[in-house]
Amino acid sequence: MADTQELVEALKRSEHRYRNIFQAMSVAFWELDFFPVGDILRDLRKQGVTDFAAHMAAHPEVVRQMMRATRIVDINDQVMAMLGRGDRAEMLVNLEDYWPQSSTPVYAASVVAAVTGQPNYSTETKVRAMDGREIDVLFTACFPPDTMNKGTLLVGVIDISERLKAEALLAQVQAEFAHAARISMLGELTASIAHEVNQPLAAIAASAAAGRRWLDRDEPDLEEVKTLVARIARDADRAAQIIGRVRDMAMRRAPEPRPLSLNGLVEEAVVFLRHEIQGHEVTLTLDLANGLPPVMADRTQLQQVVVNLAVNALQAMGQGGELVLATTPTDGGVRLTVSDTGPGIAPDDLGKLFASFYTTKDGGMGMGLPICQTIVESYGGTISAANSEAGAVFTVILPSTVQRVA
Ligand code: ADP
Repeated sequence: MADTQELVEALKRSEHRYRNIFQAMSVAFWELDFFPVGDILRDLRKQGVTDFAAHMAAHPEVVRQMMRATRIVDINDQVMAMLGRGDRAEMLVNLEDYWPQSSTPVYAASVVAAVTGQPNYSTETKVRAMDGREIDVLFTACFPPDTMNKGTLLVGVIDISERLKAEALLAQVQAEFAHAARISMLGELTASIAHEVNQPLAAIAASAAAGRRWLDRDEPDLEEVKTLVARIARDADRAAQIIGRVRDMAMRRAPEPRPLSLNGLVEEAVVFLRHEIQGHEVTLTLDLANGLPPVMADRTQLQQVVVNLAVNALQAMGQGGELVLATTPTDGGVRLTVSDTGPGIAPDDLGKLFASFYTTKDGGMGMGLPICQTIVESYGGTISAANSEAGAVFTVILPSTVQRVA
């Protein structure tokens, strides 16, 4: 008898604890009766359905039917606060009300997780409030075997809309910073760019003058003029390409990741740098490996990284020295190193270089390296700084789009 009493007390305590957790946590909880969904699944199996995931993907209406069949046993106050409009009864009627169409696959995935014996399922999705608002949430469903056998299921959601808003704002601020840095970089490289554009323009002028001379002859040599016109067209095309690259750098637009050749990108970046390199009387060495796999990234963003690291190297060296841009394959990706023969980095500073606003230059912004880091990491890569025997070396590693076959 005493044992029974103790058992009842223990059960009460356990129930009390559960209720406490159910109510006190800042998570919106639903306690659901899942049995009717079991019936639907059994019916489907009878009809010969073996792959529930594929069937539900092809028949979202079945998933909606499951939502309607799921019975809401209880909700906690957080569900009311987050999604309700004061009427508790209305919130206990139909689970489908909480699920916007776009979240249907999440419900399907959680059903699949439950019936395939997963201990839980969680993902980011949207739920719908009673007034129709859609809210970004982290959704979690737990399937402990003992409660599953009773057909009950605990589902929780945490409102992450503020976090997502903050992330979106951060991404926007980062994009704006990156754009501002590109504009300031273009400003620093104006002489280089002007020089690059000037070369084909000068060649066009020379070809035009020569063409006129051939035409002014007593017997105009049209073959020569044809060759010169073709040369003019080629040089005009080159000038247009350079201007196009500058315009891409100057424009503010959303990144467009696509498979890129890192070597091609390094060669293009040199267009921005050639004159600057000459101005610093620096020798440029390109050591580009053959047969590198492509990387998935936005061309302008990655060019910004290469140009930024190279400009830093030139500024560190001042006059004279050697700048080496090298590419090599790595396991699953590609590596770019930008090495210089400058003073290197003081050991104490190595840990600070990528922090925002860290600069040792008069008039420096200290945003170049943090922006490079944000860009590289957004493509799953890494960037690091070290000292070599000669100076500093910055290493960028990016995953390739084509994984190596073992
Ligand atoms: P900024 O160029 O405006 O200073 P960065 O974020 O690009 O901003 O660089 C931060 C700091 O890192 C520089 O001020 C410099 O002290 C150091 N640094 C960057 N590149 C090199 C390099 N190649 N050699 C030595 N120091 C470097």
